[in-house]
Amino acid sequence: MGEELLSCRQYEKLIPMYLNKTLSDEETIALIDHVKKCPSCREELTIQHMVAVGLNNLDEIIDLNVDSELDKRRRQTVLSLYKKDVTERMHLGVFFVGLSTFFLALLLIIL
Ligand SMILES: [Zn+2]
Repeated sequence: MGEELLSCRQYEKLIPMYLNKTLSDEETIALIDHVKKCPSCREELTIQHMVAVGLNNLDEIIDLNVDSELDKRRRQTVLSLYKKDVTERMHLGVFFVGLSTFFLALLLIIL
């Protein structure tokens, strides 16, 4: 993945979906990575997060929780991506084993 595929405006549009967990895993990671280095999107996410969670104590939350929240969410997302990847590889593995068995059988029949 290249740097800055989306602009801040586009990331901002992803924030509500991030918060209600309707983003894809790839988008979630891209958004988290962006937010971590972009102060304005970070602020936007923090505000929307607090509104969504309904917390009143703004000052306390801003710097205490957002980072650990983001890191946690990123780990979970990476893990779920990894699991998906492993599952795909396993399917692919079964496919190739099946394919080579087929050709081996074919070879035996021909010979
Ligand atoms: Zn940004």
